[in-house]
Amino acid sequence: THQVHIIGGGLAGSEAAWQLAQRGVQVRLSEMRGGGGETAAHHTDGLAELVCSNSFRSDDDAKNAVGLLHHEMRRLDSIIMAAGEMSRVPAGSAMAVDRDVFSAEVQKRLEQHPNIEVVREKIDQLPAEGHTIVATGPLTAASLAESIVSATGSDRLAFFDAIAPIVYRDSIDMDKAWIQSRWNKTTAASNEDGDYINCPMTREQYETFVQGLIDAEKGDFKEWEADTPYFDGCMPIEVMAERGIETLRYGPMKGVGLDNPRDTSEEHPQGKWPYAVVQLRQDNKLGTLWNMVGFQTKMKYGAQVELFRTIPGLENAEFARLGGMHRNTFINSPELLDRQLRLKSAPHIRFAGQVTGCEGYVESSAVGLLAGMMTASEIAGEEWAPPPATSAMGALLSHITGDADAAHFQPMNVNFGLFPPLHEVKKKERKEAYTDRAKADFGEWLAQMEGVPA
Ligand code: FAD
Repeated sequence: THQVHIIGGGLAGSEAAWQLAQRGVQVRLSEMRGGGGETAAHHTDGLAELVCSNSFRSDDDAKNAVGLLHHEMRRLDSIIMAAGEMSRVPAGSAMAVDRDVFSAEVQKRLEQHPNIEVVREKIDQLPAEGHTIVATGPLTAASLAESIVSATGSDRLAFFDAIAPIVYRDSIDMDKAWIQSRWNKTTAASNEDGDYINCPMTREQYETFVQGLIDAEKGDFKEWEADTPYFDGCMPIEVMAERGIETLRYGPMKGVGLDNPRDTSEEHPQGKWPYAVVQLRQDNKLGTLWNMVGFQTKMKYGAQVELFRTIPGLENAEFARLGGMHRNTFINSPELLDRQLRLKSAPHIRFAGQVTGCEGYVESSAVGLLAGMMTASEIAGEEWAPPPATSAMGALLSHITGDADAAHFQPMNVNFGLFPPLHEVKKKERKEAYTDRAKADFGEWLAQMEGVPA
């Protein structure tokens, strides 16, 4: 007798269930833990279990994008934020929680809600009909993943992320780097000057850099990650470096076909090609974020920052995210989902949480919150107005549902690079300008929505 079936009682599924139930919608929430299923990262049967850190990161809503997301979720009666508040432990400007108190609080509120039935069961197939929200997370059960593959195509579901570091465009030194596509090749979607930012290296710089990759401290693959096949086309940069000094120079760091405009020497039989090059490719439609092509890595974060800032042009690089590789089930959302998180080929199914390609506890919860609201508004026959793209929720949603580059889609945390840029504001004042604008626009959006006070 439920109206909406939510699969997965993690962060996103719990939040979606709450949002629906609070709007009077009958929900069945299926969670496999406690019903014969388990994941390699969860340790309990509790709903909304935090699998690793106990932190929701910065709670600063004036200068930090995830803090701003907290603010917006609180305004939308988020159960994750409310339970987080209840279970909060001291952590300076960050928001950290007691994970057991937190999970117990979420579970209590959901189980006691008259509109929610929590069922401990593993779902193996995408339902053929009925409003459904799939919120099965980075460790979606294999049987359901198979069903998702049949619905979407085998190359649309990833089992590993391979994240190359992403740099804020305005932190790249364009007096050293330049924009050009290799051989000046362009496509219909190309930028006028070229599609890549190129950071040149001399032979000496290259050899030092390759040694730096080999020597850098690396994180481990967990036992349950090690046997997942992922190497095709996304080998960690340090593994390539270990294969031989020339491997990278014939791979992602090759300089051929790129003419360094600042190279004034005469000895170039072929072209002013650098000995080696680090290329960055635009990562979002706004052009604020650029990723280091081929630089997916298991290097520790500190080691990445240190080594990557030795690259000419990246000395002052600021990273919207650092590289990483993890077991992570996620769909190619920009291609598969419409602007309301619905599967284009089967619009009764929405996706929510990390499986949509957002990343992190708070982001996953936020996308669950949106999926719940959207489904409720669809059931009520209302027109859905998305949160403004200038807000944290809106920026995250826009990224997932279309603004990200579908051909190279990788999971993303919320960050100011996803927001429509404010170039005219001085850099020092920009973060506050983003949050001021977001709060004003978000408040207006809320005021226009029925039943939510501005
Ligand atoms: P989850 O919270 O994982 O919830 C998905 C739920 O679906 C699970 O309860 C699962 O049991 C259930 N499920 C799966 N398949 C089925 C099925 N077929 N039928 C029924 N139920 C099913 N993020 C951070 O912000 N900080 C961190 O420190 C951090 N560390 C992480 C460490 C690891 C090892 C992993 C894998 C992820 C980590 N993340 C971290 C990311 C974090 O897991 C996610 O951001 C967050 O939990 C995702 O929320 P979610 O609701 O999408 O998925």
